[in-house]
Amino acid sequence: MSRRIAIVGAGISGLATGHYIRKGLASTGEDVELAILESDSVPGGTMRTVREEGFGIEWGPNGFLTNKPHTLALVKELGIEDRLLRSSDSARKRYVFTGGRLERLPETPLSFLTSGLLTLPGRLRVMAEPFARSPQPGKDESVAEFAVRRLGTEAMEKLIEPMAAGVFAGNPDKLSLNSCFPRIRELETRYGGLIKAMVSLQLERRKKATSLGPDGRPKEMSAGPGGVLTSFDQGVQTIIETLAGRFSESLRLDAKVTGLRRLGSKWELAVTEKGRPTYLQADCVVLSCPSYAASGIVGGLDAQLSAELAAIPYVPVAVAAFGWDAAGLSRPLDGFGFLVPRLEGRRILGALWDSSVFPVRAPQGRVLMRVMVGGARQPELALLPEERILSMVGEELADIMGIHAPPILRKAFIHPKAIPQYPVGHGAALERLSTRLQGLPGLFLNNNAYRGIGLNDCVLQSRLTAEALVSSIR
Ligand SMILES: Cc1cc2nc3c(=O)[nH]c(=O)nc-3n(C[C@H](O)[C@H](O)[C@H](O)COP(=O)(O)OP(=O)(O)OC[C@H]3O[C@@H](n4cnc5c(N)ncnc54)[C@H](O)[C@@H]3O)c2cc1C
Repeated sequence: MSRRIAIVGAGISGLATGHYIRKGLASTGEDVELAILESDSVPGGTMRTVREEGFGIEWGPNGFLTNKPHTLALVKELGIEDRLLRSSDSARKRYVFTGGRLERLPETPLSFLTSGLLTLPGRLRVMAEPFARSPQPGKDESVAEFAVRRLGTEAMEKLIEPMAAGVFAGNPDKLSLNSCFPRIRELETRYGGLIKAMVSLQLERRKKATSLGPDGRPKEMSAGPGGVLTSFDQGVQTIIETLAGRFSESLRLDAKVTGLRRLGSKWELAVTEKGRPTYLQADCVVLSCPSYAASGIVGGLDAQLSAELAAIPYVPVAVAAFGWDAAGLSRPLDGFGFLVPRLEGRRILGALWDSSVFPVRAPQGRVLMRVMVGGARQPELALLPEERILSMVGEELADIMGIHAPPILRKAFIHPKAIPQYPVGHGAALERLSTRLQGLPGLFLNNNAYRGIGLNDCVLQSRLTAEALVSSIR
């Protein structure tokens, strides 16, 4: 009898895990059946692209950065490189709303020195970063503690706090630097500070660019510390549709997993499929659903594991999309968008100027903007009725950007549990989860709740989970 592997959840983590399991088993000749169970009627989780009035509107993620290779590698394996869409160069310009106006984020050390974003003492404090004290050994520092220690309070409030809100919709006083931004911690440890790291990386890159590759031509420059934001011609939905298309016989939609128990050497999943209760036996199970859903599934199996999973916090985010005739706006959307620091006391976290980043997202002569609301800062605002969110965002945009033109399109997507938060202590919680899993062979956890929320991190963790699973059944 063939063995069965069940994957719970068909977001990018579940689908990519399926892809890598299949790839890992291809050479072994093992007879293994895959079942991917998804509670929703469509795959993709938070990755979904909606088409309306000629606009291509993302529900959640906009794309991925090329500074890590994982999503690009998956794209190549799927043979959809020709569907990739690079963000336009003008999207490198980013703004912060500070002191009542949109201020451009400096991109070079020189422009930082002359920028009005921070006061002179604030700028001098940042320049003193190489002399900041070292972290306490072994301490899981919060993002805010780290930023104040290295860059000072003003840079933390005007730059780092909005960045934490932009990436995690989170509160830097609570988020763990090690878990949320491990690369920053690595740069501090390796180079002794951020400015030193910037200088060293720049020199390393220059050296690489001037050395020759095996074909005798100069090696390519890296895409830079931030990489290039990249998506697909039809939005992020493209990669989801491609993956889901590969699993048409394995993917079961409207199939919500409600419980899990041991049955001899196998696992038995309780599933409500198209409204009907049913059971499915499997040799291995990967829980690729959010941690709060995984907590409910393992509730009857391991109370401690369930409690650890339930303790991972999530914050709500509402995405408000607006489309206008470009001619109706008094200011060009000449960049990526803007972030709003919490000290400004506004009711939005920031805005993405989607049609400037990817011009194909709006019809000719029109623009598309998506505004983020809620997060850890104002969770209650993300849960307001759609119409109230839209009118509130309209008022904020009138104040911040002077937009008074009537929109052609207005639409809100509400994610009540949008983004998992990795608070101080998250690393220790992951270790406790690993210990519990050691007593439950054949059970795996893989979702953005654990080791990274970016698409690159989700794809990397999916490959690592699949490799661990394949080696466990070999
Ligand atoms: C507003 C927003 C903007 C973002 N922007 C970016 C960005 O620009 N770039 C970037 O890299 N990342 C971004 N992210 C993060 C990124 O989208 C996510 O980290 C990633 O999509 C998570 O994928 P996942 O598969 O781990 O989880 P999910 O997408 O949450 O998928 C989990 C799946 O499990 C299913 N499920 C739940 N319970 C059950 C059950 N009991 N039985 C069966 N199935 C179940 C769900 O329906 C869902 O389909 C953004 C996220 C949000 C919310």
